[in-house]
Amino acid sequence: MSFDSGSPRRFHKRSMTGFTPTEIKAIDQSIPIKAREAWTKYSAREFTTTDQLEEQFINHVETTLARSMYNCDNLAAYQALSSSIRDKLILHWNKTQQMHTLREVKRIYYLSLEFLMGRALDNAMINLGTKELCSKSIDELGFNLEDVLDIEPDAGLGNGGLGRLAACFIDSMSTGNYPGWGYGLRYNYGIFSQKIVDGYQVEAPDYWLKYGNPWEIPRFEIQIPVDFYGYVSTITDAKTGKVKKQWQGGEQVLAVAYDFPVPGYNTRNVNNLRLWSSQPTREFDFQKFNEGDYDSSVAQQQRAESITAVLYPNDNFYQGKELRLKQQYFWVAASLHDIVRRFLKTKKKWSEFPDLVAIQLNDTHPTLAVVELQRILVDLEGLEWDAAWDIVTRTFGYTNHTVMQEALEKWPLDLFGNLLPRHLEIIYAINMNFLKMVAQKFPQDRDLPRNVSIIEESDPKNIRMANLAIIGSHKVNGVAELHSELIKTTIFKDFVKIYGAEKFTNVTNGITPRRWLKQANPELSDLIQAKLGSDEYLTNTIKLKELEKFISDPEFRRSWADIKFHNKQRLAKLIKKLTNIEVNPHNLFDVQVKRIHEYKRQQMNIFGVIYRYLQIKATPAAERAAKFYPRVSIIGGKAAPGYYAAKKIIKLVNSVAEVVNKDPEVGDLLKVVFIPDYNVSKAEIICPGSDISEHISTAGTEASGTSNMKFVLNGGLIIGTVDGANVEITREVGEDQIFLFGNLAEDVDELRQDHQIGKLELPESLSLAFDAIEKGTFGPYEEYQSLVEAIKYHGDYYLVSDDFESYLEAQNSVDKEFRDTENWTKKSIICVANMGFFSSDRCIQEYAENIWNVEPVLDQV
Ligand SMILES: *Cc1c(COP(=O)(O)O)cnc(C)c1O
Repeated sequence: MSFDSGSPRRFHKRSMTGFTPTEIKAIDQSIPIKAREAWTKYSAREFTTTDQLEEQFINHVETTLARSMYNCDNLAAYQALSSSIRDKLILHWNKTQQMHTLREVKRIYYLSLEFLMGRALDNAMINLGTKELCSKSIDELGFNLEDVLDIEPDAGLGNGGLGRLAACFIDSMSTGNYPGWGYGLRYNYGIFSQKIVDGYQVEAPDYWLKYGNPWEIPRFEIQIPVDFYGYVSTITDAKTGKVKKQWQGGEQVLAVAYDFPVPGYNTRNVNNLRLWSSQPTREFDFQKFNEGDYDSSVAQQQRAESITAVLYPNDNFYQGKELRLKQQYFWVAASLHDIVRRFLKTKKKWSEFPDLVAIQLNDTHPTLAVVELQRILVDLEGLEWDAAWDIVTRTFGYTNHTVMQEALEKWPLDLFGNLLPRHLEIIYAINMNFLKMVAQKFPQDRDLPRNVSIIEESDPKNIRMANLAIIGSHKVNGVAELHSELIKTTIFKDFVKIYGAEKFTNVTNGITPRRWLKQANPELSDLIQAKLGSDEYLTNTIKLKELEKFISDPEFRRSWADIKFHNKQRLAKLIKKLTNIEVNPHNLFDVQVKRIHEYKRQQMNIFGVIYRYLQIKATPAAERAAKFYPRVSIIGGKAAPGYYAAKKIIKLVNSVAEVVNKDPEVGDLLKVVFIPDYNVSKAEIICPGSDISEHISTAGTEASGTSNMKFVLNGGLIIGTVDGANVEITREVGEDQIFLFGNLAEDVDELRQDHQIGKLELPESLSLAFDAIEKGTFGPYEEYQSLVEAIKYHGDYYLVSDDFESYLEAQNSVDKEFRDTENWTKKSIICVANMGFFSSDRCIQEYAENIWNVEPVLDQV
């Protein structure tokens, strides 16, 4: 493997963004005067007026799309508008990258297997400050912008919170003028699209590239070979006499780069999201082809392409599939090769690598990068082990996303060693050095080495990726205060003993206010901007605090409440379109949308809905209106295709909806809705349309949550447990603005143990709900038996029985408080005013200062 690849061009050896300052000067002088004049005169220009945009738009329709005025439909309009905006982005991108290269600034590389980007067009227009202009042009050209925006498929290259966090972070890195790149995979199929058939989830493939993708720039010239399998040999260097290990791969695939420009808000800084796509090394395996073995030559091609074919649809759950490990190495090897190649252009010493490169590991998925960098430095670049290891650990930071055992990555040793034999050797060496240090430091502690070893001495043996990530990084962070404390006292407590608590830190998650306020809630953004006098709150969210000044203004509150109502109308329209259910936007909208998971406790929500339904029916008709505030219970989210319990929860929600919604006794007092195919673009409509949203995980299980932030930033209140970022949201907005309930994280272990020894009490309310299910009120009991029995007879691991009563009480408080409309609106305003802390801009600043040691890069060349 050599790092000097790069395609030959007309004059020069390297691609444009890859020159050193000296080289650029030399090239500059070598360009003929005539050519230089032409470049200056005809250099691409970005549109700044509607006329120029319309010219570019029509140009794209006629040439890029090969269409005409007569067959320019919404799809063509979407593609032409996106292409025009992409052109603008690319010009900014080129300048940004050129500047970063020239200045030799330290770059941040955010490695994430998931980037849940959603749609790009609306966001790009907003960040470039060109939405009004575009809207006018599109209008003049005879289209409706809303309809055009609606054509775009979501880039669903992620499962849930972790992938969306990565998307918010690259937005904030661009906005904060940080030189930050994202590295990920370009899956041909993103997260499956969810259909509901007879109440069951049915998965359909998400071929999001069906109509091409105007936002990606294929870099066919960047093709990086990646090896798998093979064997390791020991060779002696003829010159130095040094013994070296050499990995001879047995199978090779190519990683081809696809770039997605990521614009910042109100800046010309445009960063890059580089996604790799796998390709076979040869078009055809000629030998096999000539021998007439056409089938197997094609099969080999397809094997290579399968690596980036599909995103694994598990959220917070580890599944040890070889293809997944292949994805991880493919992505990590290509990314590191690219990063190292870029570093080598600076001609700096290897010891300066960590001064120019910070790599953040989003969960343990990219942990192989630690091993790969060590391999590059030792095997390929000939550095001494210790010098290399010092560079490695100064480069990496690791973000942990869960304490749940079932989500921790552990690769079976034989599977791993077969795919990556040299990497296994390196892991053994890393582990040996580490355990040696541990034994020296804690000679008395006999359990310690076994607990912290990278190798789990089980049968079969496993590689613990979290241990490797900690040992290979200089900082480890959790994603909310409670979670960062929990990792120090539970899963990583032995590492705190070894490294000290300073290695462990917290960066509470955040969300980008551009997408989750301005784009998702244009009316509220306009009101805020009018009141605060500028758009500064979008880049300095602490400014939102000034909204509190207007709380006593009844006219402001009126406007605020009207906007919430409009957003509920917008959500009601979406619900009607997706489910054909009519809901009344005057009623209380109670929303829980997120991946379906037992720990997130959608089952508790629906049991609560069932209980409410039974109570309504048990109350004399004349008294119902006084007792119950009319409510719409909205639930949405995808279940991993192999997650039996989660799928049963979806079925139960749909069956309850079926019964409740057509019960004439209930009428408007209760409606139940399951929103199919929850994704980012739907979240943008759902979050602003909620009155109360549910974040009710078993305490200690939800690392942070980010949808809690999206809802509150849009003026919705929360009912939730003392878990994840709910704790800090409460601190910021005040206890009066949140409906907290349930047991605390510190009590969970004991309650679980009690259940194990048969101490489990079903509250009367939960029994009533179970009785109804068992009686077949919502269809044959067998369908839901496992959900009920998990609680009744199998230890109720997620503590539904323990929290149910206090959950109902909190819901009763919601009913009561919602009746006081004025007071509710005041709470809503206080919430938004105090959400400034939860901007992902603040996260990026914290990472930059405490982990990456990088600074924003301002001016452009
Ligand atoms: C924000 C978001 C999530 C994360 O939701 P949590 O409630 O924090 O788990 C998941 N999916 C989508 C589409 C999101 O936008």
